[in-house]
Amino acid sequence: MASQIECEEAVAKLLEFLDGELDEGDRSHMERHLETCRGCFSRAEFEGRLRALVAETGTAPAPESLRLRVRGLMERF
Ligand SMILES: [Zn+2]
Repeated sequence: MASQIECEEAVAKLLEFLDGELDEGDRSHMERHLETCRGCFSRAEFEGRLRALVAETGTAPAPESLRLRVRGLMERF
């Protein structure tokens, strides 16, 4: 049980996870959570794709408003 994390924690650590900034323990907790939680998996996939897209175009237009729009989209899922 101690090795299971909640969605709240997974979401809070998602960006660090995608950036590869988590330490080994946190990362494996995240991976385990994403394997068993469809909601967080979708979110991670979405965020990851978004970042790849931004990296590809080499532009980060108004990251804050983009982030808010994305958040709005996610909430409608
Ligand atoms: Zn979750």
